[in-house]
Amino acid sequence: MIPVTSKLPHTGTTIFTVMSALAQEVGAINLSQGFPDYDCPPELVAQVCEAMQRGQNQYAPMAGLIELREQIAQKVERLYGATYNPDTEVTVTAGGTQAIFTAISAVIHPNDEVIIFEPAYDSYAPTIRLMGGVVKSLELEPPNYRIPWDMVRRLITNRTRMIILNTPQNPTATILHQEDIDQLVALVKNQDIMILSDEVYEHLVYDGNRHQSMALHPELRDRSFITVSFGKLFHNTGWKLGYCLAPAKLMQEFRKIHQYLVFSVNTPMQAGIAAYLKDENTYLGLASFFQQKRDHFRAGLEQTRFKLLPCEGSYFQCVSYGHMSSEKDTDLAIRLTKEFKVASIPVSVFYNRGTDHHILRFCFAKRQETLDNAVERLIKV
Ligand code: PMP
Ligand code: GLN
Repeated sequence: MIPVTSKLPHTGTTIFTVMSALAQEVGAINLSQGFPDYDCPPELVAQVCEAMQRGQNQYAPMAGLIELREQIAQKVERLYGATYNPDTEVTVTAGGTQAIFTAISAVIHPNDEVIIFEPAYDSYAPTIRLMGGVVKSLELEPPNYRIPWDMVRRLITNRTRMIILNTPQNPTATILHQEDIDQLVALVKNQDIMILSDEVYEHLVYDGNRHQSMALHPELRDRSFITVSFGKLFHNTGWKLGYCLAPAKLMQEFRKIHQYLVFSVNTPMQAGIAAYLKDENTYLGLASFFQQKRDHFRAGLEQTRFKLLPCEGSYFQCVSYGHMSSEKDTDLAIRLTKEFKVASIPVSVFYNRGTDHHILRFCFAKRQETLDNAVERLIKV
């Protein structure tokens, strides 16, 4: 065997693969990995098929089809009052994960420090480390997982190059509020710190709150990569399509990586989405659509012994069980899948140190029937 020196010796297989595979193996209801169990809009599928039949089957331009980039720029202008130039400041990516990887690898050099908030989406830390960067993680505390900005300030050194934010946050289902933005603006003022803002759940913000996109705030926009996923917008996570927004200078660096990572993203889906995106009603109803699911699922979970954590956004609901058992969350998630046939995600996997607050995450982007069946099983726990 040829010896291989691992570049990520402490990284295993992502929890999403592990739990979805286990759910499938034992025939459990899969509320672990975040994806809908209903189909995406048939009109959108038709638009993609039409593009294929029209012959839009060759390489798209490196940055994405211009008609899609224009639609994205118009959407961002309408929603956040921000002007992004489709030629130089918008790039279509193969989903949010690729956009995140590309942004980090474009600007993070060896020994650069990047601040992340844990529990954190699992791709951030390995990507930073792969680039030789140093992960400075700050652990947030349940049930509210608010960012302690005074502690963030203390983490900043002259090597801090980036702060990664995620609002609405996966897995905690919290959102950034205006107070957080005010703190962030004060924190980065006069500092050479970039922001990577993972906004894949931008439309899934509930109870009349506003999504605090970095695009809303000029002081932050000018230093931010904003990454978004169409998978969350149009219920088609398997299409792996998304985009990145950034000021031209940052986008120039982003594209240097993007062109050699994927070169460009599949053409017919870009064409279909560009046509579909013209009607803003295709996404403006998403918050109420998912809020109904959240409320229905929460009402069901109230009948179980689990304690509900707040859910301000995203399509995840966290529950705590520390009052019921001291079992490790990873063990309980496996046992619930095997014995009660409901798969979840143990939140400790999103902490570098594996901090276990005895919390599980459930995805509620499911048909009502699926959620009801899951609740029926969880009542027995
Ligand atoms: N960021 C977060 C917070 C996510 O939950 C996900 C998963 N959808 C992604 C990024 C990746 O998105 P995509 O599936 O488009 O790569
Ligand atoms: N974003 C999804 C989740 O958090 C899954 C992403 C993935 O499978 N990589 O469940």
